[in-house]
Amino acid sequence: MPHQFTFTGIVYIPFTVILAYLAYRYYKLYLTNGRLLYNLLHYTFGIFAFVCLTGALAGTYFSHSASGIRLMIIISAFLLSFGNAVLGYIFILESRIRISPLYGFIPILTLGFIASVITIFTPIHPFVESSGGVNWGMPDYLYQLRVAVYSLGIIPVTVVMFRNFNKTTDSKEKKHYLFLGILFSFFMMIVITDFILEPVLGIEALYSELMILFGSIIGAAVFFTAYEFVISRIEKQFRVMIENTQNLILIIDHDGVIKYANPVFNSLLNYDSGSLLNNSIFNILFTDDRELIRYNLKNAVEQKEGENFEFRFLNRENDILWVESTGPFVPLVQFNKSNDVFLLASHDISARKETEKKLLELTIKAEESERLKTAFLANIYHEVRTPMNAIFGITELLYDESVNKEEKQQYKQLLQANGNRLVKIIDDLIDLSELEANKMVLEPRNCDFKNEILVAIESFTREEKIRTGAVTIITEFPENNMPDYLLTVPQRLQQIFRNLISNAIKFTHKGNINIGFFQDPMKSRHITFYVKDTGIGISPENFSVIFKPFTQVDDRYSRDFEGTGLGLPITKKLVELLTGTIWLKSELNKGSTFFVSFPFTQIPVQTEP
Ligand code: ADP
Repeated sequence: MPHQFTFTGIVYIPFTVILAYLAYRYYKLYLTNGRLLYNLLHYTFGIFAFVCLTGALAGTYFSHSASGIRLMIIISAFLLSFGNAVLGYIFILESRIRISPLYGFIPILTLGFIASVITIFTPIHPFVESSGGVNWGMPDYLYQLRVAVYSLGIIPVTVVMFRNFNKTTDSKEKKHYLFLGILFSFFMMIVITDFILEPVLGIEALYSELMILFGSIIGAAVFFTAYEFVISRIEKQFRVMIENTQNLILIIDHDGVIKYANPVFNSLLNYDSGSLLNNSIFNILFTDDRELIRYNLKNAVEQKEGENFEFRFLNRENDILWVESTGPFVPLVQFNKSNDVFLLASHDISARKETEKKLLELTIKAEESERLKTAFLANIYHEVRTPMNAIFGITELLYDESVNKEEKQQYKQLLQANGNRLVKIIDDLIDLSELEANKMVLEPRNCDFKNEILVAIESFTREEKIRTGAVTIITEFPENNMPDYLLTVPQRLQQIFRNLISNAIKFTHKGNINIGFFQDPMKSRHITFYVKDTGIGISPENFSVIFKPFTQVDDRYSRDFEGTGLGLPITKKLVELLTGTIWLKSELNKGSTFFVSFPFTQIPVQTEP
């Protein structure tokens, strides 16, 4: 008898192919990520592919042989028992019920086997209906038994797939669960049409097969529509996340061309939304950091591992924005390799950088002041030690009987000079600590400043350089209608002059010291004093250094000039306390001029007695 291609047989052929393909796909998936679910699905689909093959054979090769169709029914009954038992296993596994998945597997397999054995001993009369479908011709109870067995596997697993679809947030997982949920619903539909609708309602096999066919098309359509819906929702979620995160998010291609920049990125860099698109990332990077980004991007293109990195963007005004990436460049999956894009997430670390910078400055300052303190202590020690040694030495000599009267007179003078030097150091230290602590008491009164200058000069007449004429002090008092009095603290004004003159003498080996004053043309109602020497001079980089406490241009222990480095800081503080300013002009080896300027205050101020 010739074979006949029945409608049933033809419908089952594409299902066989599709299920075999699914088995293959899930096997591949299992190989890549080792997930048990995928392996089980691979078995399920493989078994179902064979089931469909029996249907296809029953409807084609065996279509005119009742015993052939019967054989296929029996084989498919056993296969379906297995397939459903695996579904039972999957159900327990995926529903996360804390019992062994075998509790899902064994009962269904047992029941399925019983049904299959019963099938063997049941008289079955299959035939091809005139409309072209295969009628399995089983007694009613066998249909009912099989519906019961298959429902036990398919219905719970379908429910679990939809539940997991709903629960999971991972878009890939969601896609799998949705697909499986719809697919298992479709299996259930086959069971319903084949084993309920056909025998109970007596629908012809052709129509039930057509329903299955349409069912599959509708199932596919539902899947794709639902999938699109899910994806667009997920995409929306991500968009909201990316647009509201405080991180700077940038998507660039492998050449560094910007494909996306999130609102925070645009606002932190002061760009209008969209204006960075299709520009190169390298145009908005700080020059020194371009190589770093190029290197990290290259690593990402070559799929090498990477780490966080700190770098600088330039905003529209070319100001620096310090950021730290939250990881390496992340490749975003694309349709083809040549169209790769990468995501770079980073966050603003300018505040941290600012703090780091300040801390570094503080550390440097602390180290500097530590160094200065050490140098200062060594210096003070030396400065105090020298006159002290002299005092002890001279005192001993004074008791020496062999020293004559004249020599003793000289020694007494030396003793006094060293005592004065010691007192001066102690005075300076006290002055500075009072000034630093803002504790200096000032009682201003009208004072004849010319007189104060002359008194200050007077105190140096016994200095060796002055006595020997190596250094000459010249006063330059202009004859004009400037006021003769200045409201100030005479004792402190004199201290200022003395400090400046003392330095001028100290740092001039041979030459002149000019002392005078003038009315500053640039500042109205100000008097500016100057002390000008022809000494060793100071280089401009030391202009501000010399006003810091305990600093000397030459702070070596064995330097050429004695001194504590306190004179100028005290002078500066005194000048400022008397509402004046101090500055200098100097050139190395040519001499220095120190200027001190005060505002005139003519109306005498009543001071506390
Ligand atoms: P000291 O004179 O005790 O060292 P100062 O505070 O008065 O301390 O001066 C600080 C430093 O400034 C001096 O050590 C010297 O290097 C420099 N300096 C001050 N005045 C002059 C000057 N007239 N000519 C050259 N260098 C000077």
